[in-house]
Amino acid sequence: MLVFVVNAGSATLKYALFRNREELCSGIADRIGFGDSFVSIKQKNLGEKILLLPLANHRDALREILRILIETGAVNDLNDIDAIGHRVVHGGEMFSKSAVIDKKVISAIKKYAKLAPLHNPPNLLGIEACEKLMPGKRQVAVFDTAFHQTMPKKAYLYPIPLKYYTKGRIRKYGFHGISHEYVALEAARVLKKSIKKLRIITCHIGSGASIAAVEYGKSIETSMGFTPLEGLMMCTRSGDIDPGIILYLMKEQKLSADEIDNMLNKESGIKGILGFSSDFRDILANLGRKDKPEAKLAFDIFAHRLQKYIGAYAAVMNGVDAIVFTAGVGQNSGIMRKAVLENFGYLGVKIDWKKNLANDTIISQPGSKVKVLVIKTNEELMIAEETERVLKRR
Ligand code: ADP
Repeated sequence: MLVFVVNAGSATLKYALFRNREELCSGIADRIGFGDSFVSIKQKNLGEKILLLPLANHRDALREILRILIETGAVNDLNDIDAIGHRVVHGGEMFSKSAVIDKKVISAIKKYAKLAPLHNPPNLLGIEACEKLMPGKRQVAVFDTAFHQTMPKKAYLYPIPLKYYTKGRIRKYGFHGISHEYVALEAARVLKKSIKKLRIITCHIGSGASIAAVEYGKSIETSMGFTPLEGLMMCTRSGDIDPGIILYLMKEQKLSADEIDNMLNKESGIKGILGFSSDFRDILANLGRKDKPEAKLAFDIFAHRLQKYIGAYAAVMNGVDAIVFTAGVGQNSGIMRKAVLENFGYLGVKIDWKKNLANDTIISQPGSKVKVLVIKTNEELMIAEETERVLKRR
């Protein structure tokens, strides 16, 4: 089955084409709606190309992508494409699995836009553009929240008056589910064990960061919550803070809701501590500098908070068999992994520090009770596989 994968953001449309598990090509339409928009394509034997093209909206972007796919020979014509898989960020409580897109699914995605105002509306634009340009083609929604729908009530309910959940559905949803599920499955495959026999802690540490406790194949806890703001320190997001700080800032410093929103989502995390950058690589580049003490501070807070969560998740699963690191920081920063993992000897973690620095797949020593892995996430592949699985089930 040839599956076209779409991940639409507010000004971007990432795409990929998969046959079985093989990626045939991928790329991005970026700066949609701005003057300097472009489409990139990466294809075996052709390398990477970038084309500057005016893209007024997502439909324009998709039209150009499909034209390029035909031009490069990735597909002969659009009939070659069997199905389309979409990343959809919020599926609320309705979706614990991927779903074939129909009117009902579309109206649910619209409904959950209230909970993910930055993500669900552009996801819908991607779906609508596909329907317009490839009418009748089977489309599947793969939700970022779905994997975490297996969390028990004690994990997903906040201890605030219950009516906010029963009436307003305020609860922990969790995000990055496609990535957490993918790397947990990959870890089981690498370890040659059934996922049903493993307690895995998956750490997705990119510009957004979250961690999940995957107990025998099911997510039972995760650090992002009602919104993607909760949990770990991120590039520009604060992660966990005392909610009293928000009240204090509103009451004493008269900050508005919008100002606090901006501060917590865009000015905090690495950006908040480092000041001049939100990029983890700038922490590393300045770690040893006496005139930049903020770099060490940002590094220490980042690692400390991740360490706390790993400890907590080992506790809620009554042990841990594997810890997996993924995404930009998780896959690439041996220094950060070292700072975090140094404290887990008591759990039975024994690291081969050379393999850790080399970003090997298994970085624990052969005799380590807890296996520690570095796995490249591949959300697009997971979406393609899910799309195929859902359509074959029908
Ligand atoms: P996104 O969530 O945007 O997909 P990524 O998974 O690409 O993000 O992660 C982006 C983060 O990864 C940035 O903070 C970046 O600094 C960090 N990063 C990328 N490469 C490296 C590297 N080689 N070493 C450390 N951090 C890195």
